[in-house]
Amino acid sequence: MSSSSDSLSKEHLGFDPDALALRYAEEREKRIRADAEAQFVQLGHDSPFANQYLEEDPYCESQDRAPLFDEREVIVIGGGWVGMLTAARLIQAGVNDVRIVESGGDFGGTWYWNRYPGAQCDIESYSYLPLLEETGYIPKLRFSYASEIYEHAQRIGRHFDLYKDAVFQTWVTELRWLEEAQMWQVSTNRGDKMRARHVCLGTGPANRPRLPGIPGIEDFKGHSFHTCRWDYNFTGGSPEGNLTGLADKTVAIIGTGATAVQCVPALGDSAKQLYVFQRTPSSVDVRNNAETDPEWAKNLQPGWQKARQKKFGEAFLGGPIDPAFLDDGWTRLTRNLKELASQTTEPIPGLVQIADFKTMEEIRGHVDATVKDPMVAEKLKAYYNQFCKRPTFNDFYLDTFNRPNVELVDVSTTQGVEAITETGIVANGQEYAVDCIIYASGFEITSSYERRLGIPIFGRGGQSIYTHWQDGMRTLHGLMVSGFPNLYLCGGGFVFQLGANYAHGIDVQAGHVAYTISELGRRGIKAANVSQEAEERWIADQLETKGSGLVLGGSPDTCTPGYYNQEGTTQRYRNVRRETYSKGVGAYMKLLSRWRSGGELDGLELET
Ligand code: NDP
Repeated sequence: MSSSSDSLSKEHLGFDPDALALRYAEEREKRIRADAEAQFVQLGHDSPFANQYLEEDPYCESQDRAPLFDEREVIVIGGGWVGMLTAARLIQAGVNDVRIVESGGDFGGTWYWNRYPGAQCDIESYSYLPLLEETGYIPKLRFSYASEIYEHAQRIGRHFDLYKDAVFQTWVTELRWLEEAQMWQVSTNRGDKMRARHVCLGTGPANRPRLPGIPGIEDFKGHSFHTCRWDYNFTGGSPEGNLTGLADKTVAIIGTGATAVQCVPALGDSAKQLYVFQRTPSSVDVRNNAETDPEWAKNLQPGWQKARQKKFGEAFLGGPIDPAFLDDGWTRLTRNLKELASQTTEPIPGLVQIADFKTMEEIRGHVDATVKDPMVAEKLKAYYNQFCKRPTFNDFYLDTFNRPNVELVDVSTTQGVEAITETGIVANGQEYAVDCIIYASGFEITSSYERRLGIPIFGRGGQSIYTHWQDGMRTLHGLMVSGFPNLYLCGGGFVFQLGANYAHGIDVQAGHVAYTISELGRRGIKAANVSQEAEERWIADQLETKGSGLVLGGSPDTCTPGYYNQEGTTQRYRNVRRETYSKGVGAYMKLLSRWRSGGELDGLELET
């Protein structure tokens, strides 16, 4: 074993950590924009894009129905994973009167809307697809494609009989607490005024697309759409590709995040000419997909999925690595850290950063090995810590840039595309004439809750929840809010810090909310309100909590901007810490479990 100075020398590592640190800082500096989140178009119902993105559904005919004025024990808003898991766990806990209200034409949430070619889950399917044991389903592939995931959402809907009471193509326009009735009134675009004892907000992180606020975006006369409303009538083909409608078209895609990385290969394959406008490159690691081994599936024992989710979460956050995750890109950093630590005799400060540099060097090396033109390859390399932005995994994306009909347009020096005209896109002073613009510009994932939710919520005394949160989000456990009884923010921005597998974090919350609501019912409690003192205590705890230290993501002080750090806005990030739990999913599970085993519903003021 060598001493730390030998094993961490530039020669031994094969890279210069100081030079990389400087390069990262330069890249970050280049991307900081003073307008931060304001650079994006907010897609409210009064925006010029409201019809295309909020009111019309390209996947389903609109169905008429009479408005509803009934009463329910629980209304769950959102029929994606959060809403479905919450409803399923409620039913398992004996709370059967549950209605899901969903804006899409079916269950699935993000997997209903995102049907772009190549759409796939980046977390292994055995850990990500919810309720596999309950529904008896085994995914076909290690990493499932979107159509299989959408079908699984429908399977869950049937298994738990969620279709019976659900309403689709319905979006909530207001939530109001009725003090006398001790119930919520849920108003919708369909003229409904339903009432519910409890309301679970399961709107998920990606329910609201955002468009770049590029000057002229409203002027474009060609065809355009966001990736979450893919227009197969225009492109032809299917989620499997073969986009025959693009054979004579020049196409532009703006954005190179996780979505673009998945759909660019099909576009490159089919379009006459494709321009990929890139402001910041994604890190693109290998995919390692495989068919599910039927022998493995046959031998699974009860409880296998929860155990697997737990192991995945631990491995991602630096814990022991189960052999199942040894070649998973999400654990590359942990593996590198363990390898470096094993080569030295004493603890080394900053080892996590060195491991991150090593990880990103490997990923950058993969670009060199795949992309033939060295100048294009250089532009495709990500210079930031791995979890500053969502990492991506794809075996076809980088190779697409070897095609003669595909051009990477680097817009990093101008902080993005400069303008959109009636006929094309202006970048680096040049106009690119295009027939179609595809916006792979993401979602309102971590913008203010008001912006991403878009629902006015009035609690006790008619107070708006957004007024209550004017200095940052305030909750107990990231779930309940003082002054807003019987309201649960299932899967709010909060679970993001719980780990890479969003579906695991929300299931933990779903189980906790199901316990709370069933327990309140059992005790005959009509209203449960978080005390101000409990909310303050939780916030104070969160502000003192240090993260696991492994994932060097998010910080606006060191990371390139993106939705992980609210586009680099320090103040907002500090406020948002109150809605995050940075110790990981395992610690969060223990904390909630302790609260439940106390049996006192600690911190809640209860009214019968
Ligand atoms: P992102 O927000 O990650 O990416 C948006 C892209 O648009 C970025 O590349 C951004 O550049 C670019 N952009 C924005 N404005 C401009 C502009 N003015 N000019 C040029 N480029 C611009 O959105 P995605 O839809 O890719 O991903 C969102 C999230 O959805 C993912 O992070 C992930 O959580 C989830 N997802 C999950 C998948 C899965 O496997 N389960 C698959 C796909 C998505 P810049 O980086 O410089 O801001």
